Order: sequence, then C-alpha cells, then structure tokens
Amino acid sequence: MSLATIGLLVAYQYVSGLSALSERARSMEMLLAERLAQHDAHLSGLGAVVRMSPDEPSTSIQGLAENIIARYPRITNITTITIGNGTVRAVSYGRAQNPEIADLQPNLDLTGLDKIGDTSARPATTPHAYEIFKLVAPKRILRLRIDTDALLDMGDGGADYSSTLSLDGAVLLETSRGTHALLTASNALDTSNHSQPLHLTVSRGFRPNELAPPHLALPLLAALAAITWLIMRYRHASRERQSQERRATLFEQEAKLAQAGRVNAMGEMASGIAHELAQPIAAMLSQSQAAKRALTIDRPDILVTAVDANIRDARRAGEILARMRAYVSGAPARIEEIPLTEAVTDALRLVKADLAQRGITLVVTQSDEVGTGCIDVISFQQVLHNLVRNAADAVAGRQNPRITVDVRRLGDEVLIIVADNGPGIEPSSLGRIFDPFFTTKTDGMGLGLPLSARLLEKMNGSIEACNDGGARFTIHLPTCVLR
Ligand code: ADP
Repeated sequence: MSLATIGLLVAYQYVSGLSALSERARSMEMLLAERLAQHDAHLSGLGAVVRMSPDEPSTSIQGLAENIIARYPRITNITTITIGNGTVRAVSYGRAQNPEIADLQPNLDLTGLDKIGDTSARPATTPHAYEIFKLVAPKRILRLRIDTDALLDMGDGGADYSSTLSLDGAVLLETSRGTHALLTASNALDTSNHSQPLHLTVSRGFRPNELAPPHLALPLLAALAAITWLIMRYRHASRERQSQERRATLFEQEAKLAQAGRVNAMGEMASGIAHELAQPIAAMLSQSQAAKRALTIDRPDILVTAVDANIRDARRAGEILARMRAYVSGAPARIEEIPLTEAVTDALRLVKADLAQRGITLVVTQSDEVGTGCIDVISFQQVLHNLVRNAADAVAGRQNPRITVDVRRLGDEVLIIVADNGPGIEPSSLGRIFDPFFTTKTDGMGLGLPLSARLLEKMNGSIEACNDGGARFTIHLPTCVLR
C-alpha cells in the first residue's frame, strides 16, 4: 500500500517534471529563435553597408561592426570575404581598432552560396562557435561568428537540466550538470530559422529526492498510515461484531442441540421413565384399595395412613414428571449447590432399566466424602447420559458387558469416571472425539461429546478420555463446599 502511494507520488512528480521540461524547452526555443532572428537582421544591415562600401577596409563597416559586437557579445567576429582572381581576402571588423586583413585559402567552400542573399551556417573551426556565411554582393561574402556559450543562458532552473546545441550533426554546445538521476527525459526540437538550422535538445534528470520529495512523501506516508490504522480499526471492530454475532448464534444452536439430545435421550429412556412411575402408581393403587377396605371396616386410622401415603406417592410421581419436563424443555441453566452423589444417583436412575434390559451391568461406586458441587442438574444429567449411552453402544454384543461409574474426591475436585469394557476408543480418533461432528458410528451425529465438554465448561468443569481396558472418561468438577 505504501509502495503504491510512493509509486503514485513518483508518477505525479515525473509527469509534473515532464511538463516543466517541455515548458523550459519552449522558452529556450523562443529565446533561440529571437536571437537567431537578430543574427539575420545584423547580416542584412551589414550586408547593405558592405554593398555600399566597395573599398575595404571600410570605416562604415567598422563602425557598425564595432557597435554590434559591443552590444551583442555572442557575435565574436564579423568578417567580409572577397573572392578575387585566385585569391581570397578576409577583413575582420569590430574587435581591434583597425580591421585585420588576412589571406585565406583559395579553396573556400562556397556550397549553398549561389546567389545574392544565400546563407550557409557551419560549425566554426574553434570549439563552441558556428559561423554564418552570406553572399551579400557578387564575390563578396559576409561572415558572422557566433559564440554558442553566450547564445543560450537559461540559468539552471532549479533542476537537473542539460542542453545540447548542434549544427549539421556537430555538437556546438553541451551543458550537463552530472547528476545522480534515477530517470531522464528529453525534448528535441529543430529551430525554424533557415539560415541557422540549429538542433536543440533539452534534457532533464530526476533525482530520487525530486521524485519522492521528503516534504511530500513523509506527510503522505503519515496520512496513509493513519488511513490504514483507521481501516484496520474498522475491520477489527466489524470482525469483533461478527464473532460476537457468531458466538450468539452458536450459543443458540448449542442450546437447541442440547435440547434435541435430551429429547432423543428421553425416547431411549422411556422404559426407565415407565419403571420410575410404575412404582408410585402401583403403591397408590394398593393404598387406595386399602383405604376402600378401611372405609368398609370403619377404620379411619388406616384410611388416614393410606390417603397420606397416596398423597406422598402422587407427589413423587409429580416430581418425576416435572423433572422429565424440565429435562426435555431446555430450561435455562441454573447452577445450584447439590450433593454430587445424589446428582449421580438421580441421573443414573433413568438409564438403569434400559441397561438392564440390554443385559449390561452397571456398577456404581461412590465414596462418602464427595461433597457438593455447583452444577446445573439438567446439564449434569445430560452429560452422564451421553457417556453411559456411548459406553452402552461400545459394549453392546460383547461378553459380560459392563459399565462402571466411580465418583470420588481428589483434593478440591470431584472425579466422576465412566468406564466400560468395550473395544476402547480407536487410537487414531482419540484426539478428535471432542470435535463437533466427529463420529465413527453409521448413525452417529458426533455431537454428544463436544456438547458434554461445553456443558461441563459452563460448570467450571472439564472432561478427558483415555483407554484403560475399554474406554474411560473422567469428568472433573470443582467442589462447592467441602464436607
Ligand atoms: P456419536 O455418539 O454420535 O458418535 P459422540 O460425540 O458422543 O457422538 O462420540 C464421538 C465418537 O467418540 C464416537 O463416534 C466414538 O467413535 C467415540 N466414542 C465415544 N464413547 C466411546 C466409548 N465408550 N468407546 C469407544 N468409542 C467411543
């Protein structure tokens, strides 16, 4: 992200730099065009004076030349060249008090100077200069030497600009600032002046600190960091919210599952329930018969005893039914301080008949000093039912099928160990049996154990499994009040 931002900044700086470059190239081009036009004007003015001065050296030419050279220092030499019969004579004006006369090589290159008014520009023999030749009269040529160092002076423009001026492929001027540029860009243009067809190239280098200036890059990065931080905070907050929503949904599903498990268990425990209710109902029947007899023999004392017993047994039956309803209906968790041996006995009461019917022996051992636990009775019953049901599945069809439930104190904890003499838990499954939906049974749901673990957690307890002969599950519950 920060790289992309720096990339954008670099691109922006580069594009701005390019437009500054073309702006500068345009200014240089205009300046050059103006100066080249001045050279043309001087050539015309001088040409007119030369034509009016058939004899040389001429004071008129000298006067004008002096003036031009003084005002335009880039014009370093003004010379007339007269071609005679086999001779070429040059008269240099302007610089010295008196014009200098010299003989030139007779093989002077006259290319491009065919008719009066023709001009030709060529690189000078000295560096950083070029010369313009103009045929101003028959066999009379005017020559202006231009110092290119003085021709273009644009200042450095505050950036790594360099320029090259060339004529006919020969470099007349080259300014370079020698930078540590990362990137360079150039603008090349030809002057539209016919007498001096110069070629100008303006280049610009971009240093790293120009492309990503610290005064822009740092605030930009700071702003980016702030935005990233805000986005991350927003994401974190929405993730929190989502996970809270998920947790809430999970709790809801968990409660539904727990209830479904209990309803399911009730079906399996139907015979246990019938057995539980059969006792008080049978007792009530015989007590009602006794009461009827007591009426006929006029024994109110027996009548009172029988009716009292009926009331007691009817209450008991009512309690059993209320417990069933609470178990199935999914009443909200209610942590109570309960003697744990009592809770275990109650929980096992309903499965006993079912186990007996399947020929499974249930052995329960409870030590006296177990004490009380802070538990939700319904959840606790559900956990024990799950474990006993799994054990019953495991021992089904085995010889002398047996399930043991051992309740004992260990320090501040109560351990409830449910073991069986089945085949044990497959070693490869041991680490996964508490994962939701893990099952090895064809009709299994894989929810009994994860649900049990979760219910125990809510009671500050835990559960673990191992193999010891058959499978062995140990519930740990903290004791509430030690007896
Ligand atoms: P389910 O009974 O629907 O498969 P559970 O979560 O109750 O779901 O049990 C998960 C798995 O743990 C069972 O499929 C079984 O492989 C293993 N398991 C549980 N109890 C025992 C046991 N007493 N003996 C052997 N394996 C058991």
